[in-house]
Amino acid sequence: MIPESFKLSLLQYGHPGPIIRRLKGQFDQQKMTHAIQLGEMACGCWVVLDGNNRIAMILRRDPDATIGALPEDRVLMLRDGEWDDDTLEWWNPNPQSFDFVQRHSAELYRARRNKSGFASSQEYEVEIARLTDRLTNMSHRCVANR
Ligand SMILES: [Zn+2]
Repeated sequence: MIPESFKLSLLQYGHPGPIIRRLKGQFDQQKMTHAIQLGEMACGCWVVLDGNNRIAMILRRDPDATIGALPEDRVLMLRDGEWDDDTLEWWNPNPQSFDFVQRHSAELYRARRNKSGFASSQEYEVEIARLTDRLTNMSHRCVANR
C-alpha cells in the first residue's frame, strides 16, 4: 500500500501546531501497546492518526527512517473512506509533513529560546505569531508519495 522505502518524514503530522519538544525516552517496539494508525487522505497523502509521538521519536534518532522500520504487524493502514476524515478536518485542517513540522518547530523553539536577542518584545511577539501561524494555518501541501 505504501512502499517500504517511503520516508517517515513524508507522513503527515496528525496534530496541529509544533511537534512536542521534550519527548522522553526512545521508541521501543517491544513496549508498543497499540498499533500506529495511518489514514489515507483524499489527496493520497498519509496522515498519522495515532502514533505521532512515536514517529517523532524514531525520526529524532534517524531522520531517514522509512516505513520499513516499523513492525508490519503493528501498523494499521486505513484507506481513504475507511476512517473519519471529518474529525481531522475539524481538528487539524492543514496537516503538514513531519519534515515540514520538524523544521518549523525547531525554528519556533529557537526563537523562543532567543527572546533576549530581539530588539523589542513587540518584535519577538510578531515573530512568534508568524512562526506559529505558518505551523498552524499554512494550507496542506501534498508530498510525492505515489
Ligand atoms: Zn496531500
